[in-house]
Amino acid sequence: MSWRDKEREDFDATQTLDPSKTYTAWQLEAIANQILRDDSKRELCRKCGEYGEESGEIEALPQADENGDPVVDNEGNTLFVDFPELVCTNGHRWYKGEGKARTIAGKNPILFENHLQDRRRREIYTSVGTPDPSIEQGMYNRTHPQGRKVNSKDQRKRNGASFFR
Ligand SMILES: [Zn+2]
Repeated sequence: MSWRDKEREDFDATQTLDPSKTYTAWQLEAIANQILRDDSKRELCRKCGEYGEESGEIEALPQADENGDPVVDNEGNTLFVDFPELVCTNGHRWYKGEGKARTIAGKNPILFENHLQDRRRREIYTSVGTPDPSIEQGMYNRTHPQGRKVNSKDQRKRNGASFFR
């Protein structure tokens, strides 16, 4: 492992940015990605779609097994699990785990570096000038014996795949 990989592996991306510190571009990106990743794990209100914040209330609910039966300890006491209560800006309340997962889609979708790489991979590059306009005018989706690999009509229909792989 190179010193750079080691340095990157040791970097704590969950830290809060300290304005008096100097960060490298890579470190800033790692922190930003962490913020986005944390954001994608937050819960949204099922009624209005706003973010939920912990209200400070915690409800202890009996722990249930996969059959819905209460889980007990060796002495027969019911075990409880703490569920923090979440509240959205419109005052709707729910318990953690019952909300809608933020994920990376939906309103304000999140793009990670690997998604951007995916897009760049599909971009058309030319050595000179701009791509031939026929790319956008119907001449684009054509095969050639030495051309790009394509998805079959069935794959395109079933998975919403693009013409070219
Ligand atoms: Zn709400």
